[in-house]
Amino acid sequence: MSPPDDIHSSSPQSFLVTGGAGFIGSHLVERLISEGHRVTVIDDCSTGTFENLCSLQHNDRLTSHSCKVSECRELEDIVQRADFIFHLAAAVGVELVVNSPIRTIQTNLRETEVLLQAASHHGTPVLIASTSEVYGKSLKPVFVETDDLLIGPPTFSRWSYACSKLMDEFLAMSFFKERALPIIIARLFNTVGPKQTGRYGMVLPRFIEAAKRDEPLRVYGDGNQSRCFSYVKDTVHALLRLASCQRARGEVFNVGSTNEIQISELARVVIEVLGSKSQIQMVPYAEAYSPGFEDMHRRKPSVEKLFDFTGFRPSTPLRDIIQQAAD
Ligand code: UDP
Repeated sequence: MSPPDDIHSSSPQSFLVTGGAGFIGSHLVERLISEGHRVTVIDDCSTGTFENLCSLQHNDRLTSHSCKVSECRELEDIVQRADFIFHLAAAVGVELVVNSPIRTIQTNLRETEVLLQAASHHGTPVLIASTSEVYGKSLKPVFVETDDLLIGPPTFSRWSYACSKLMDEFLAMSFFKERALPIIIARLFNTVGPKQTGRYGMVLPRFIEAAKRDEPLRVYGDGNQSRCFSYVKDTVHALLRLASCQRARGEVFNVGSTNEIQISELARVVIEVLGSKSQIQMVPYAEAYSPGFEDMHRRKPSVEKLFDFTGFRPSTPLRDIIQQAAD
């Protein structure tokens, strides 16, 4: 394994972070600013909020644009001045996706296309944040980047998210091949931590909120479905390592934790860690989402490729993450 080039030790650089006011984006922006870099954020605040960046309110190395990428009049200038782009702007959250599939598809396709087009005019490298959803209904115990993908039919809106993000991946890869645009694709698995909201369906912030109020934790389905939860600061660390790794360009990476937990067990652990009096309430999928909703039974990444290229893999223990998120 060759050692990663280090973005941190180099002189200050200029970054564009789309979706920088979102949950993961804001942690990334805070980290980049703390390392002395300049950052421009473009975020339409559809699911994010600039309150996530309030700690940087008076920092003159941060510039914010509250608009869509496709509606940002200064986009070409910003992209030209940037040394690197993190493209995180996207529709997020299973509930939002199920309730607003048109918005999901349009946001994910249009904004990425505009961004890649601008980046290709200036040759600015781009890391595209994709998603573990692209693995769809695969029953493989561990998902590897080269796997075939098994997406459900268009009659179930959930899959519009996976399909639109997958098209983003194809488009990015095409810009790499046809226009020599340096791109990196990061498939983010369940990422959790401080500032995440449960408003759009994410399980851990919901459980934590309920546990703090001693209200029931609502576990969907039979609760046997499992996920691997990565601490947001680990995810950000992985993204920075990838950004500074020349070898990573034109490649796809899983980014996530490999510590698997069933959702009913997660509920139990949250109650225990927070010393809550909450009960666990089982809720049928049809009631939680809509009739015929299809969930993924397991979703575990292989992060061998990430480790091979960057020497890093997320490893913060779940109980520590729960405590951090609750605080
Ligand atoms: N889930 C749950 N209760 C909730 C929200 C989600 O039991 O209040 C379940 C959901 O059905 C899924 C898992 O928790 O099996 C993770 O859901 P999330 O929306 O956080 O992420 P994703 O489904 O994208 O992995």
